[in-house]
Amino acid sequence: MKAFAYLTPVNEKEAIGALGPDRDKVMVLGGGQDLLARMKDYVAQPDRVVNIKNALDATIVATPDGGLKIGAAVKIADLAEHAQVAKLYPALARAAGEVGTPQIRNQGTVGGNINQRPRCWYFRNEEFFCLKKGGNRCFAPNGENQFHAIFGNGPTHIVHPSSLAVPAVAYGAKFRLAGPKGERIVEARDYFTMPTMANVQTENVLAADELFTHVILPPPGNVKTGHYEVRYKASHDWPIAFATVVLAMDGDTIKSARVVMGAVAPVPWRAQAAEQALAGKRIDDRTAAAAAEAALQGARPMSRNGYKVQVAKTAVKRAILQAGGIKTA
Ligand SMILES: Cc1cc2nc3c(=O)[nH]c(=O)nc-3n(C[C@H](O)[C@H](O)[C@H](O)COP(=O)(O)OP(=O)(O)OC[C@H]3O[C@@H](n4cnc5c(N)ncnc54)[C@H](O)[C@@H]3O)c2cc1C
Repeated sequence: MKAFAYLTPVNEKEAIGALGPDRDKVMVLGGGQDLLARMKDYVAQPDRVVNIKNALDATIVATPDGGLKIGAAVKIADLAEHAQVAKLYPALARAAGEVGTPQIRNQGTVGGNINQRPRCWYFRNEEFFCLKKGGNRCFAPNGENQFHAIFGNGPTHIVHPSSLAVPAVAYGAKFRLAGPKGERIVEARDYFTMPTMANVQTENVLAADELFTHVILPPPGNVKTGHYEVRYKASHDWPIAFATVVLAMDGDTIKSARVVMGAVAPVPWRAQAAEQALAGKRIDDRTAAAAAEAALQGARPMSRNGYKVQVAKTAVKRAILQAGGIKTA
């Protein structure tokens, strides 16, 4: 590993002061599980590492409007076990509880999880000089693309790796970012960016000199929610595809829906056709199956990931049935 300077600021202002304009030179450390792995693999070689664990908020507090404000330094395990999170945002608690393993959840932070870099094996291998590292091609379309995106037209075909990002978008969360010019609040759905040649080396709108400080959840209202992940194995693995659904109810009828899929696109992927298919319906097997079909309309799998279309359909269908309290396999 290349030698680097290590800073341990004790508050937000000090942490921001330690950042700089060059994201390749100064990097933020939360739990370190993603960053240190990239450093050990020579994929990231910062001159300075800024540990934010003692600088950023590690609490979960109620907001005056009845929502919750979650600090970036909160551990994933604490999010998963928090009583108010489980009561108000069960899909988020469930997603947090399914991340990796107990050790990963104990070490990983909310900020680190949402800002972790893609798991693409070409990106993570120093031998491949891919678009994300300043090269001139994405190796996925003609390569081993079994876990890559089935939505989006490139130029890179990564899937967004964060399990927490998907329920955050589904619940209509906002993110607080702080930098030298002050704070800004960004809708979770606008935070993650589809790749273009202009922004291909990043996955979100966070500037190099900004910190991700909070997830702010609005009061949930009268909703039913579901979250369903499909993995090869039950633990120590990322999902192949998953979905969060948030259904605003009017009695037994779905008034409006948010359906967001994970591990299928470079961003948490909102399935608006599925949302329309659900509006005005009751939750039952037929409605869930029709919405799942609609959710995968427009999927464009590559040579080896066609199987993900069916897996994602299953995740959407089961998330809807779970929201309705209907038992699935
Ligand atoms: C076997 C295995 C299975 C896994 N399964 C899952 C899974 O199912 N779902 C899932 O979501 N993840 C999964 N992970 C990934 C793991 O959850 C993440 O690596 C972890 O959550 C990252 O959190 P961290 O705090 O350790 O991040 P760090 O490594 O500290 O940071 C990650 C990135 O975010 C940046 N960063 C961190 N905090 C901030 C901040 N406050 N502001 C700005 N930038 C910041 C860092 O610079 C870095 O680039 C798995 C990992 C392993 C090894």
